Amino acid sequence: MIFVASIWDCSQERRDVLKNLFYPYHNDFLVSFYYVRHYDPCKLRSSILKLPKEKRLWLDSGGFQIMTKKVHIDPNDVYQYQLKSLQAGDVAFTLDIPSNPTKTFENAKIALNFKKQFEDQGIKLYAVITLDSSLNPEVARKFAKKINKLDFDGIAIGALTKLCSRLWQIGLIIASVKSVTTKPIHVMGVSGYDLMYLLAWLDIDSFDSNKHLKGAKYREYHLITGSLAYVGNHHAYRRRFVRNGFTPCFCPACLQMKKLEKFQESDAKVVAYLAAHNFFVMMQHLRLITLAKDEGWFERLLQERMLRSSRLRKAIEILSRTSLVSRGI
Ligand SMILES: [Zn+2]
Repeated sequence: MIFVASIWDCSQERRDVLKNLFYPYHNDFLVSFYYVRHYDPCKLRSSILKLPKEKRLWLDSGGFQIMTKKVHIDPNDVYQYQLKSLQAGDVAFTLDIPSNPTKTFENAKIALNFKKQFEDQGIKLYAVITLDSSLNPEVARKFAKKINKLDFDGIAIGALTKLCSRLWQIGLIIASVKSVTTKPIHVMGVSGYDLMYLLAWLDIDSFDSNKHLKGAKYREYHLITGSLAYVGNHHAYRRRFVRNGFTPCFCPACLQMKKLEKFQESDAKVVAYLAAHNFFVMMQHLRLITLAKDEGWFERLLQERMLRSSRLRKAIEILSRTSLVSRGI
């Protein structure tokens, strides 16, 4: 399973820290058209992101930002930008309009007008699907079935965690999509460790997340157990806060910071170091999942995780009772 790490930050200073810490250890990075649209597309990979040639860039269309920031984006602009900025092996997403499957499908069809150009350049084109406000997995299944017949290289499921916090429901939606396609499936906006384990169990191909970056702004420090500690000094009563002492981690970011109190400093770079630590913890979980799957003991790892998480246990139990997954646990 590929973890596509969100790399974009508006501050150049933070971006420099992130790229120095992320690029040597990781291959797949995500940016959103919404944030980079004012930059010259021909310079995005080289001078804006300074992304080494052998790394893969996944360019999201910005559908989620359209919803949250209430801006209008023309799908043609997105596809032209993707064609100018991406290189062979990279992945482009169609423009989704969250909670509007009809418009999202229209936008996907517009992308097919550019399909030959994407193909000639070796860029993969993923169609994004979205649900309406009913969050009915059947809507997702029907949408995926329609998309599956069209000439896309993969199917991406739009920011589910923003739509519902019930893990079992997210699982049902993803499994419904998987039941109608053999194309690679990408899940967008993954915001928790339990979901990461659920995706691995469902054999999903890839996912993206900005959990490491977003949490860092609130001074969230990920723990290897898959929970969080608060290392900031703004809230006195946050659960499980830690403000002093040596970091309980030896990742490249923590080796640099040494003490937890360093993460409280009001310096742009500090947030980037914290984001990098969070990224390394997510990577540790993912490597463990990959190892366990390769070696045939993933079910045991999942059982251990389920003992600690009632929502993951519930999701797996519900999914195991459906015909959507071929095996139970
Ligand atoms: Zn660390």
